[in-house]
Amino acid sequence: MDKENLWKATLEKLRLDLSSANYKTWFLGTTILEKEGPEIKIGCTSPYTKERLQKHYQTRIKTIVDELTGEDTNLKFYVKRKKTPQDKLGPLFTESEEKKKQFIQQSKKSNLFPQYTFDNFVVGNNNNLAFAVAQGIVEEPGTRHNPFFLYSKVGLGKTHLTQAIGNEIIKKHQDKNVLYTTSENFTNQLVKAIKNSTTTKFHQRFRSVDVLLIDDIQFFAGRESSQEELFHTFNTLFMEQKQIVLTSDRPLTEISKLEERLSSRFGSGMIADMQTPDIDIRLAILRQKRETRKLNISNKALEYIAEAVPSNIRELEGALNQVITVAKAQNKEPDLEIAKEVLGNLEPKKPVSPGEIIKEICNYYTVKPKELRGPRRPARIAHPRQVAMYFLRKMTDMSLEEVGDLLGGRDHTTVIHGVNKIEQQIEDKLRIKEQIMGIKDNLSE
Ligand code: ADP
Ligand code: MG
Repeated sequence: MDKENLWKATLEKLRLDLSSANYKTWFLGTTILEKEGPEIKIGCTSPYTKERLQKHYQTRIKTIVDELTGEDTNLKFYVKRKKTPQDKLGPLFTESEEKKKQFIQQSKKSNLFPQYTFDNFVVGNNNNLAFAVAQGIVEEPGTRHNPFFLYSKVGLGKTHLTQAIGNEIIKKHQDKNVLYTTSENFTNQLVKAIKNSTTTKFHQRFRSVDVLLIDDIQFFAGRESSQEELFHTFNTLFMEQKQIVLTSDRPLTEISKLEERLSSRFGSGMIADMQTPDIDIRLAILRQKRETRKLNISNKALEYIAEAVPSNIRELEGALNQVITVAKAQNKEPDLEIAKEVLGNLEPKKPVSPGEIIKEICNYYTVKPKELRGPRRPARIAHPRQVAMYFLRKMTDMSLEEVGDLLGGRDHTTVIHGVNKIEQQIEDKLRIKEQIMGIKDNLSE
């Protein structure tokens, strides 16, 4: 994806996420000035917007950009029309040993970020099974746990752990050919290969490796030719006892429009999930970041951050970065006071109740709550019902079963189907997307 399209896609997603007033005020006129590897320079329209984006929207932008690129990007904000300052990225390792250099080269060739390792992955009761499996795979790639299917909600370390498997294998078994890809990249490359009649080369690339790591396979849902290709790639590698690792943001049973032959194969080896980390693990993660990055932030400040950001490690890191940045800008030590200042200022996420969602949807589509719960399924009612499923899942922490119950005792598979359908329609149909944005705006007012 080139930088124009990447930014366009990012803005589209942000628009879904924000009230239209906020979107217009802060994001209209922004661009990506430059993208070099994971370094992305974002051009803002004024110093004020720059500060605002940096302080309040950085994590959100990064989450989206990371999803779209499959990279762990590093965002920098600039006021447009000024010359961009030289990058000041420090070296990865202070010692410039030959071995490390080689490792970094090999890692990059495998499409990996050398920074993602086992050392800097904090293990707790939320992820210890996944970590143990990862270690087993590094010991004996292709034999013990094959395929390995890893899932969790976003920002909980799937990409980190998957890439770490790749990096550790490269360190331990120099002869192994490792390849990391996101599902989106796999699909894009396939499309390109078909267009340029280079499918043979494509096959070779993916079927000749010893270890194939495929991130975010939920992206394959509904993409038939990619699934076909993936099926053959999988079979070839699996028969030759090559290691396959797959990740997803949801369990296999919840990826609808994934062919049965694929999901049964993906689930045929080892499956592990990772949960949200508790406060102690969050604190351990922050301490570890403090140590590796040699930050002099106080314990109290770290505790405050760990409390303030409960459910996503990427956001946790984002919050830490914000505190450091603001302290620097004010020429102060990053302490509790600054942490409070920064995180206390975060827009509080006001929870929306299921009742409010139902009310808004009935209002928006002019249907009665009783009809939403009822058995009838004409489009006039079925569509709002599915939209209700979508919002109940996105904006509350209700389970599939609870959503099904609330909407008249429907089965959880019906809810999965409903949510997926709306997600698909948001991508395919402008009209539906606008409905969803409208409802979202109303709900956040
Ligand atoms: P996912 O792929 O599940 O969305 P990532 O692997 O991208 O999540 O993780 C988000 C960020 O959190 C990354 O910067 C990663 O290094 C960090 N992270 C996640 N889990 C851990 C962990 N257990 N220990 C240290 N850092 C972690
Ligand atoms: Mg990821």
